[in-house]
Amino acid sequence: MEEITAEFSAEQIAPTADLRIIPEVTVGCKTDVGRVREINQDKFEYYLAEDKLATRGLIFLVCDGMGGAAAGQVASELAAKTFIDVYLNHPSADPGIAAGAAVQAANRFVLDNARAFPARRGMGTTLSAVLLVQDLAFLVQVGDSRIYRIRNGEMLQLTTDHTYPNELHKMGMITAEEILTHPQHHVLTRAVGAEPEVQPDIEALDLKAGDVFMICSDGVPNHVSEDEIARILGSNPPSAAAWKLVGQALVGGGSDNATALVVRIDGLVEVN
Ligand code: MG
Repeated sequence: MEEITAEFSAEQIAPTADLRIIPEVTVGCKTDVGRVREINQDKFEYYLAEDKLATRGLIFLVCDGMGGAAAGQVASELAAKTFIDVYLNHPSADPGIAAGAAVQAANRFVLDNARAFPARRGMGTTLSAVLLVQDLAFLVQVGDSRIYRIRNGEMLQLTTDHTYPNELHKMGMITAEEILTHPQHHVLTRAVGAEPEVQPDIEALDLKAGDVFMICSDGVPNHVSEDEIARILGSNPPSAAAWKLVGQALVGGGSDNATALVVRIDGLVEVN
């Protein structure tokens, strides 16, 4: 990991934080190729760090790859595993810094791989991750996969979609309704593997027992309304919720690969 260490100054490589709190979670996940596509380019991964890596916390992510032939599948796979590897092994004690470096490493890896294999040129992927560290949830976002959270019965989309119509909406040029019907609805303004540098959104939020996080590819919200997503998440345990969300995406048309990863915070356990 020397080349990664070298990118950071000594101040950024703080000593490891003491482990005070461990989030206890229940996880459920489901991915499906859908009813139209021939391959599934979505990828979910999670890693529950223990022992000497325990201060890195719990990692959950979804990547939605894009690119001809099977290239999108390669992109999502490479990005997911590179992100986790680099995040876990990065020398900084600050999860936000480690996550930022992990996104850049994943970006370089996908880009280099696309250069090495002409059939993979132009491949890329979204990356949405939740990192549960002590009593914080770090969110990492590139692209248009989404992270939702239910707290006290209320659901919020915590991430911004990095799409062209969404940028137009932020500039006040189109309405929220027009985003949905815009012909370039799926054109991403940020993706892992698209440019030499990528700008992830990274944010830390407080974590509470009872919170439910759901990370999904666009194949879910394309076919399942937010009211329906909230209802399913609010009334089912994680595995059932993930299967039902993806099932509803198929019922609604299944025009894309669909993936849902659900994480329920059962408790925040204090470590003595
Ligand atoms: Mg998709």
